[in-house]
Amino acid sequence: MLIDSYDRVVDYLRVSVTERCNFRCQYCMPEKPFSWVPKENLLSFEELFEFMKIAIDEGVKKIRITGGEPLLREALDKFIKMIYDYEPEIDLSMTTNGFLLKGVAQKLKDAGLKRINISIDTLKPEVAHTIAGKDVLKNVLEGVEEALRVGLSVKVNMVPMKGLNADEIVEVLEYCKERNISIRFIEYMENAHAKVDISGMKSTELLEILSAQYSFVDNGFDGASPSHYYTMSDGYSFGIIEPYEDDFCKKCNRIRLTAEGNLIPCLYFDEAMSIRDAIKRGDIKGAALVLKEVVRTKPEKNRWGGVDGELSSRAFYETGG
Ligand code: SAM
Ligand code: SF4
Repeated sequence: MLIDSYDRVVDYLRVSVTERCNFRCQYCMPEKPFSWVPKENLLSFEELFEFMKIAIDEGVKKIRITGGEPLLREALDKFIKMIYDYEPEIDLSMTTNGFLLKGVAQKLKDAGLKRINISIDTLKPEVAHTIAGKDVLKNVLEGVEEALRVGLSVKVNMVPMKGLNADEIVEVLEYCKERNISIRFIEYMENAHAKVDISGMKSTELLEILSAQYSFVDNGFDGASPSHYYTMSDGYSFGIIEPYEDDFCKKCNRIRLTAEGNLIPCLYFDEAMSIRDAIKRGDIKGAALVLKEVVRTKPEKNRWGGVDGELSSRAFYETGG
């Protein structure tokens, strides 16, 4: 079992299979980065899988595939199948912008993917264009329908922002509620790569809007999930992710792996250790030692809302959200 210095069990690995993306979301990657990681520096699926096996053997029970946009990486279903065949009980999920999902949802499900989170910030095509930098909404919504049709468990992520999609919080929630999809509102996390003039919304502001429309009870947190859950009188639940809250990190159970093999203990900070060389030379023990060291050095807390004027320099498109 992997336990950090604050007695948190780390059993959740998020794997970014590419930092590349077909969207240019204002809060994540408004511009193409000055340089991409060259393709030859990416770990192959076989190499990533070697590390998945080590992580599973050390106690990881949940793996989420993310990016960048994970569906840009070819043959992703094969990678999913490798993990599933090694440990069918693993909670295997993916976060995607949904644009390319329609054509591959069935393949991903057949390979062993269980759950999928799709980012929907708006239901207005022109707002989607403004947020993502191109005309994306139709494909994304078709992706959602296809994921539901093939029987994947679907959740939606929305990042509410003032002056952009703040007026659609109820509409996007209703879209999800009609389909019995759970929605998680993610507070915008400031970072050095995002567009500078974004004004995110805090949970208090979201709750004010939602409580004018619905009655619900506060269910608190569910296990190690970072979502604060609320349940309406008809049983429908929604979540809010509040990284600026003091206790957000208390139950954090996750670490992150980038596509080139950097293992990152916290989403906020740049600090990372590489498993790349160990994996490339087939040094299982060496890679396991790096994993344990990264868990040992996991910081107690992020610094969103903590230190005045400081901006996280970690890129969301590199590590996933
Ligand atoms: N491309 C996929 C997608 O958009 O779902 C997966 C990667 S994306 C980095 C993962 C999640 O991070 C998305 O739900 C996205 O909305 C969220 N995200 C990205 N930048 C963020 C930011 N600055 N604050 C809050 N959430 C962010
Ligand atoms: Fe791409 Fe996802 Fe980042 Fe948007 S949030 S730019 S879809 S990685």
